[in-house]
Amino acid sequence: MARPWNFSAGPSAMPEPVLAQAAAEMLDWQGSGMSVMEMSHRGEHFIQICSQAEADLRELLAVSDDYAVLFMQGGATAENAIVPMNLLGRVSQPKADFVISGIWATKSHQECQRYGDAQIAATNAVATTIDGVHQAPFTWLPKADTWRVRKDAAYLHLCSNETIGGVETVDWPDMQALGAPDVPLVVDASSHFLSRPMQINRAGMIFAGAQKNAGPAGLTMVIVRRELIGHALAICPSAFDYKNVDAQHSMYNTPPTYAIYIAGLVFKWLKQQGGLAAIEQRNIVKARTLYDYFDQSAFYTLPVHPSVRSRMNVPFFLCNTSLDSAFLKGAQERGLMQLKGHKSVGGMRASIYNAMPLEGVEALIDYLKDFERTHG
Ligand code: PMP
Repeated sequence: MARPWNFSAGPSAMPEPVLAQAAAEMLDWQGSGMSVMEMSHRGEHFIQICSQAEADLRELLAVSDDYAVLFMQGGATAENAIVPMNLLGRVSQPKADFVISGIWATKSHQECQRYGDAQIAATNAVATTIDGVHQAPFTWLPKADTWRVRKDAAYLHLCSNETIGGVETVDWPDMQALGAPDVPLVVDASSHFLSRPMQINRAGMIFAGAQKNAGPAGLTMVIVRRELIGHALAICPSAFDYKNVDAQHSMYNTPPTYAIYIAGLVFKWLKQQGGLAAIEQRNIVKARTLYDYFDQSAFYTLPVHPSVRSRMNVPFFLCNTSLDSAFLKGAQERGLMQLKGHKSVGGMRASIYNAMPLEGVEALIDYLKDFERTHG
C-alpha cells in the first residue's frame, strides 16, 4: 500500500528502503541473532556498525582527518549549551558572536548568554525593505559584509537553515573575508545537513540533529576541528566534553545505538543515490518546482526573500487565511500530511527533505492547483 506524502519538518519522512531494511533486520541483524537494539555498544557488531557509519558520513561530506566526527545525544538544543561550554575556554574572555537568522539562531544566542558574553554580529529580527519590497523579520538575511564579528570571539555561530522561517545560507561565510580569520565558524546545519555538499573547511564545527535528513531523533552529529577540542570549561559535564567523546570514539557513555544504526543506513542510501552532489540536484529541482508554482499564483504567498529561500523548508500562506483549516483537512484527505506551519509563523510549511521525491512535490502542487480552482 502506498504511504502518504509526509511534509513534516522533523522528525520527518525517512527513505522507504531504509525503513524496509530496518524492518527486515529487526529481529536478527545479519545473522547475529540479535536486534541492533539488543547489542552491547562495546561488542564487535555494534563497533562495526558505528565505525562504518562514521566512515560513510566522512565520505559523503568529504570530512578530512583534521576534524573529529562525534555521535552525541541531546539534540541541537543541547548543543546550544555544549558548544559554548567546549569553545568559550579557548579565549581569555569568554565571548561569542551570533548571526540572528531566525528562531533557532535566537535560541542558540540566548543559551550562550548563560556562559559568557554573547553578542549579535548581524540580525534579521527586524523588518526591512529590499528592492522596494517589504520583508518581515526572519524572512531575509543581512549581507555578510555587514556582519560585525569581534576578532577575539571564541566563535561565530550561524544557523545555516532556519527550519521554521525557511531561510537558508547556501554559501557559508569565509571568516578571512569577514576580517576575523582566527574566529572559527560554528554552524547549526540541522535541517539541511546532507542535502548538498557542504563547505566543511570553512567551519570550525558543524552540528546537526539527525531527525530531518539523517535518521531518528536522539542522535546529534558533531563535526569539529580537532584543534578546537580540549578547552572545555570546568562546568562542562564530562559526557559533553568533546575531548572525552572523541577519545572514546563516541562511546564515552552509551551512545544512541539504534539511531546510529539507522543513520548509517541513511548514509548508505545516500551513497546509492549518487552522494550529495546528486541529491543536491534533486533537491534543487524539487524546490524550484514548488517555488515556481507559488510564484505564479495570486492565491498563495511566500514570506521569504527569493535570495535566501530554503530548499528544505517552504513556508507559504493562503492569502485568505480563513481557508486554512479547509486547506489542511483537504490535504490530509489527499494523503498530504503535516503541512501546518509552525505556530510562531502560522500558515503552512512544506518540508521537502532528501526522502521526499519529486513525485511527492508534484502531488502537493496538484492539490494546491485544485484547491485554488475550487476556492479561488
Ligand atoms: N536547530 C534547528 C535548525 C532546528 O531545526 C532544530 C529542531 N527543529 C533545533 C535546532 C533543535 O533541535 P532539537 O529539538 O533536536 O534539540
